[in-house]
Amino acid sequence: MPARRLDGKAIAQQIQSELREKVSEFALEQGFIPALAAILVGDDPASQVYVRNKQLACERVGIASQLHRLAADASEEQLLELVGSLNRQHDVHGILVQLPLPKSIQTTRILDAVHPFKDVDAFHPENVGLLSQGRPRFLPCTPHGVLQVLHRERIPVAGKHVVIVGRSDIVGKPLAMLLQAKDSPLGSEMANATVTVCHSQTRDLSEQTRQADILIAAIGRARFITGDMVRQDAVVVDVGINRTEQGLAGDVDAESVSQVASAITPVPGGIGPLTVTMLLANTLRAAELIHYSTRPH
Ligand code: NAP
Repeated sequence: MPARRLDGKAIAQQIQSELREKVSEFALEQGFIPALAAILVGDDPASQVYVRNKQLACERVGIASQLHRLAADASEEQLLELVGSLNRQHDVHGILVQLPLPKSIQTTRILDAVHPFKDVDAFHPENVGLLSQGRPRFLPCTPHGVLQVLHRERIPVAGKHVVIVGRSDIVGKPLAMLLQAKDSPLGSEMANATVTVCHSQTRDLSEQTRQADILIAAIGRARFITGDMVRQDAVVVDVGINRTEQGLAGDVDAESVSQVASAITPVPGGIGPLTVTMLLANTLRAAELIHYSTRPH
């Protein structure tokens, strides 16, 4: 029987409608609207689409959004100045720096400059540290999206062997931290996994991936994971987004993997819509944090 399709788009819509209510309640109670400021440097077409989608998603749930654009040849100092000024603005709660930045700019220097309370992507070392200690301030967006899909599809991870292919700071590494934590904001069933992280230097990758109850691909190579790399009835989560001549493709070869897996996330319509949605959730959280940390006692 072909694998069950885990519909990330429908789950994202559900979470967005829940968020719309929470944002509206927050605005009524506190008298202000959570706001996200996006910074876009240069005119990379894919980045422009991503930022536009994030702004539209903000509109859908009632979050205010601002776009700050800098030219491709903007200096690191100019960008730092912009981040600094957004850090100081009380009516900006979340700051998003769209990646990738031009090669002339040191990405870590910019991300480190974002105020940790406004760091809705959860890239700041303080927030990464808190996550690694099992007391996250913000959940990183794509890993949180993966957890939400599994949670809402009633696929607990506790006690399961999860194999992640990819160890990036954005996906693989923080996802491993969340899955192997002792608890999760989504409940202990969505933590306590036994996690193996694979990467380009892993020997005999298929041997590893075939051990997985849940296999997560975050590689950046179109259709890399094939059916013979997947254990019978495994759950497969495809984080990859690759632009190919035939359009968007995931890191998983859906055709062959669907014959073996019990469930699979599609691309598009899988983890992508969840990533944007979890950014909105973090923006609301940032507004709550700023409000409660500055409120007189
Ligand atoms: P990345 O920073 O390029 O990391 C890719 C990881 O895959 C690295 O750890 C790399 O290993 C590993 N890898 C590369 N080739 C491999 C191979 N042949 N065998 C085993 N491992 C291999 O990418 P990323 O930012 O994590 O993104 C991964 C994918 O997810 C991309 O397609 C990206 O577009 C997509 N993505 C999607 C979303 C979403 O919302 N759905 C969000 C973020 C990213 P090394 O560390 O050894 O180099």
